[in-house]
Amino acid sequence: MDSEKVIKRDNEYVLHTYNRSPIVLEKGHGLYAEGPEGQKYLDFTSGIGVNSLGYCDLAWAEAVSQQAHKLQHTSNLYYTAPCGKLAKKLCKRTGQSRVFFGNSGAEANEGAIKAARKYSVDHYGKDRYNVITLVNSFHGRTLATLTATGQEVFHNYFGPFNEGFQYVPAGDIEALRELVDRHTCAVMMELIQGEGGVMALDPEYVQAVRALCDEKDLVLIVDEVQTGVGRTGTFLCCEHYNLKPDIVTLAKGLGGGLPIGAVLMNEKVAEGMGPGTHGSTFGGNPVVCAGANVVVDRLDQSFLAQVSERAVQLRTGLAKLPHVKNISGIGLMVGIEFFDVQAADVLAACREKGLLVLTAKTRLRLLPPLTVSEHEVDMALEVLAEVLGTMEPTAPKEQA
Ligand SMILES: *Cc1c(COP(=O)(O)O)cnc(C)c1O
Repeated sequence: MDSEKVIKRDNEYVLHTYNRSPIVLEKGHGLYAEGPEGQKYLDFTSGIGVNSLGYCDLAWAEAVSQQAHKLQHTSNLYYTAPCGKLAKKLCKRTGQSRVFFGNSGAEANEGAIKAARKYSVDHYGKDRYNVITLVNSFHGRTLATLTATGQEVFHNYFGPFNEGFQYVPAGDIEALRELVDRHTCAVMMELIQGEGGVMALDPEYVQAVRALCDEKDLVLIVDEVQTGVGRTGTFLCCEHYNLKPDIVTLAKGLGGGLPIGAVLMNEKVAEGMGPGTHGSTFGGNPVVCAGANVVVDRLDQSFLAQVSERAVQLRTGLAKLPHVKNISGIGLMVGIEFFDVQAADVLAACREKGLLVLTAKTRLRLLPPLTVSEHEVDMALEVLAEVLGTMEPTAPKEQA
């Protein structure tokens, strides 16, 4: 079926909640995706940080299909090996004690909020439920995680929103200290605000938040849905900050392309989450976990060193391009701020030249697969150099 027909049918029957690019993707291999008419794209989006090993990695596809032929699902009434195997690896890699598996980032954050509140209720009574999040954060699209998301644009149409969420500006430890009271249960944050524009938190601030949480016995939840699983050159972004949260959530890159979310927690928080407190029909699905096991196994020290090397190469190259004001983020989570061109225009021009990129707020955003090669980084830089080299400065647009 040709692209035009695919797009027309989708537009007729699929709910219009996305602003899609007029591109149909049919198959992929490594960094490349192909359209029905043979269009070829170098993909620096990895399905928004999901395809951590690129398209259709051989070992990943093999593990997933073998598991699909063996046993595809059982529910959580019974044990299967891939789920426990993955949970053990995640605990060993992160120093956390227990894992709950769900199916998405938002769901992982829901689980984290529930676990934090349970801890607080068990130890301090039912009036201690407030979760403080950061302005400009993004935590998901379910009602509770929308409420947790510290951006007013998301707090429309779907009210009443949940009680028990408060917001403070990122980086302002005094504002946080002032807001904490006897009703505060947890602090939840991304170490690099992804959807908020690829903005990394200041390490000193993060340490101060940890200290405040220790002092008040607040549960510190770090949302690593986008930053986790090798994206920043370490298994968790927490390692860059020398941070040990009480709860870490993972999702995007963990499954290598299949839906999974994970709530990792320490013993203290895990204790309260007994039988019946939480659940998911699909959570811990053996096919998905078989794929995730391949992803986690691939991320050894030499692989992560490669990620960091590619990140340096990419960042060094980007900094030399015209119109570029600064580069943000850590590792292969890259934000690019321009002086005088619009990120959306750069994205459209790159697409014309077969390079897929993302935006986040006013920045261009790159989230290539972690398997990106030196040559592929060079190719992307070449396209960006061509695109930016021919772009005329535009007057800065009013922010929506
Ligand atoms: C993408 C994202 C989410 C939401 O994940 P879904 O799988 O879309 O529910 C939550 N938090 C962060 C930091 C994200 O980047």
